Amino acid sequence: MGAYKYAELIDRLLNSCEYLDPRPRVSKVEIPEDNPNAFRWMEQFTFTGNKILKIKDIASFDSEGNMVERAFSYDFREVGSEQPIFRICNHERIKSVNEKCHVHVGPIEHECFSDSTRTTFAYAIHCVKNHYLHKAQDWENGGTDEPGI
Ligand SMILES: [Zn+2]
Repeated sequence: MGAYKYAELIDRLLNSCEYLDPRPRVSKVEIPEDNPNAFRWMEQFTFTGNKILKIKDIASFDSEGNMVERAFSYDFREVGSEQPIFRICNHERIKSVNEKCHVHVGPIEHECFSDSTRTTFAYAIHCVKNHYLHKAQDWENGGTDEPGI
């Protein structure tokens, strides 16, 4: 995929999410000119019903465009709430994408992802949409190990 492709995907997803308020929005992804395999994104978006998604997504890609390391969190919560509705993260520490990551739901942490290759922004926005559509999340109903996008 690579850093630039990931940034393009993010802007497409932002513009196709009807719960983003206001939209359209263009992300403030940072990709250094001298290192096109490095990706850094920290931003916060408001969604319908006074909810926010706070994003920290730092990644590095190899020369073939595979994401190799990440430090990330996608924190979705009601404005002013002390607990997240969900927070998908790896505790914002740079780790191999082959390491486990997890989701916090309120005060509870579920270790439900065996790696972080698919818990990208595409997955986070999928979970935001599930929330508005009252659909079960992967970590509900016992949870699964395979985030379905
Ligand atoms: Zn965490």
